[in-house]
Amino acid sequence: AKAAGGNRYELADADSNARVIARHSLTNGLPAALEKGEFFIEYQPLVRLADGTVRGAEALVRWLHPVHGVLGPDQFIPLAEDTGLIVPLGRWVLEQAARQARKWRDGAEDNSEPLRVNVNLSPCQLSHATLVSDTVAVLENAGLCPSTLCLEVTENDLIGADEDALRPLRQLADLGVDIALDDFGTGYSNLSYLRRLPVSQLKLDRSFTRGMQRAPADPVDVKIVEGIVSLAHTLDLAVTVEGVETAVQADHLRMLGCDTAQGWYYARPGPPERLHTLALADAS
Ligand code: C2E
Ligand code: CA
Ligand code: CA
Ligand code: CA
Repeated sequence: AKAAGGNRYELADADSNARVIARHSLTNGLPAALEKGEFFIEYQPLVRLADGTVRGAEALVRWLHPVHGVLGPDQFIPLAEDTGLIVPLGRWVLEQAARQARKWRDGAEDNSEPLRVNVNLSPCQLSHATLVSDTVAVLENAGLCPSTLCLEVTENDLIGADEDALRPLRQLADLGVDIALDDFGTGYSNLSYLRRLPVSQLKLDRSFTRGMQRAPADPVDVKIVEGIVSLAHTLDLAVTVEGVETAVQADHLRMLGCDTAQGWYYARPGPPERLHTLALADAS
């Protein structure tokens, strides 16, 4: 039996036994998967709401499992975090993403603004001793300017972080790497805490924009987003909204002053070449 919050207990049934076994075999397969090159990255465009141009993309990792097919990060990132494999896997993602950003730059017009790449960081990576030196090395090897990279950390991972814990992020921010607070609004951090964090962007969780998919928009959601945007801009933070699925939603969020959007309305995560095509279409 497993504790399911409070003092309620849930009995393990056949289904959850199967899940435990599946979990176990996936976990065991992780290290070899990295060696065998079974991971790949899809890129989802980040679009400037003001003019609809592509500013960059978020790197989202997938596992092409020989038996189960393509697995999403929610299915294996937690396992990689439990076993520590997230550190080499995360480093691999960072390397790939940096190389990709370099390719985009090499293929772009000389005077165009470089496409940025966003990479998710797990808490284990945040507290890992080599985060700063690894990141600097990756940027140097790819010949990338630090401002081309944005590292995404979730609000929950930073709750309660003291100055020592924040130091690596602050060092990266001082070097010019953008730091975004991911899944913003889903945690319990108090807002005054935001001022202490070395972040330059908030990524507003999808749950806040869901109520705006269709007209009429949920008036409470509108008020909340309005409030967050005004707070963020007061603190000099840019606002990215996630999960934009409809034109109605995009229009609303633009009118509310959000800066950047990401979601199926623009593009699903996909191969890196596609981003280039989208960005070139902007330029013409
Ligand atoms: P996230 O950072 O919040 O990423 C956004 C997720 O929302 C992605 O799911 C993306 O595919 C999905 N999404 C994007 N647009 C829409 C939309 O319009 N509607 C809906 N319903 N969903 C949308 P994905 O790719 O399954 O990734 C899930 C999570 O896995 C990510 O959430 C992130 O926390 C984590 N993750 C992904 N790649 C990495 C990685 O390289 N390292 C680490 N540590 N975590 C990663
Ligand atoms: Ca993210
Ligand atoms: Ca998010
Ligand atoms: Ca998330």
